[in-house]
Amino acid sequence: MNFKKIILSIAVIIIIAIGAVLIFKSGDSKNQKNSKLQVVASNFASYDFLRAIIGDNQNVELKFLLGPGKDAHSYEPTAQDLITIQNSDLFVYVGGQMEKWSDKVLSSVENDKMKVICVADDIETIEEQEVDGAEPEEEQEEHEEAEGSFDEHIWTSPANAEIMVNTLEKAMEEIDSQNAEKYKQNAQNYINEIKNVDKQIQEIVDNKVRSRLIFADKMPMQYFINYYNLEVTAAFSGCSTETEPSANTIAYIEDKVKEENIPVILYVELNNGKVASTIATETGREAMQIQTLHNITKEDFDKGETWVSLMTRNLEVLKKALQ
Ligand SMILES: [Zn+2]
Repeated sequence: MNFKKIILSIAVIIIIAIGAVLIFKSGDSKNQKNSKLQVVASNFASYDFLRAIIGDNQNVELKFLLGPGKDAHSYEPTAQDLITIQNSDLFVYVGGQMEKWSDKVLSSVENDKMKVICVADDIETIEEQEVDGAEPEEEQEEHEEAEGSFDEHIWTSPANAEIMVNTLEKAMEEIDSQNAEKYKQNAQNYINEIKNVDKQIQEIVDNKVRSRLIFADKMPMQYFINYYNLEVTAAFSGCSTETEPSANTIAYIEDKVKEENIPVILYVELNNGKVASTIATETGREAMQIQTLHNITKEDFDKGETWVSLMTRNLEVLKKALQ
């Protein structure tokens, strides 16, 4: 064996050794990762509530399936998402028309240990309603399909948010009873924060000079509207896929704004507010964004904003719109 060959052999042995160490290490970290409880939430509100309940527990890995900045209604799980759901210890979803994919996915999942929670199950849901101002849906097919379905935007009322926190806290206790006391405490702390925002909104509502909110947009806040006993006019009922209201709808909204002297035209997060700005300019009013918590922008997500902090952002908006 000449010198070159010896060097080459040593080099090969070293490379194999490093490779083995790396494979061993990655397997090790993978095992560590998998030993954590895997919790998956389909939408932002469930994710946020679980994040608060789990708190600083390092043995739980929480995933936000939809991810920030995306439209919950057009989301379809990817192959990777299916694996994430399949490998979860707890999977939380809302269901309904918004998450039509959930039935199919759940029937295909083979994991006996996985706990599945539909957060809408404990909520007194309402039917999707036709909102004042919005034109009835044109496509008969779509209407038939939507029949019998409920309004999925349950998280917009603080009362429902509390119920969701309690449902999710019990689910966490079931998959991790050792930390039950901690989960109970964290859930109670978060409920107190929700109650606090609720109280502040209620104060604004109690001092209102008008009851009507105007959405130059879709209107996924019917539970919020009902909870605070408000009225609403909107360009679209619920969550339409359309973004341009008809000239008739715009004219109707403008008339309403003038008739009832409404100072603020609302649009929802993840919308550029163009229609609201147009109506605001036409009527000499102000366009403002309201947080419906339907989803969170990437920017707000990275800043760690929560259901509570985003709902708190609405205080100023509601004050201007109602008082
Ligand atoms: Zn929606």
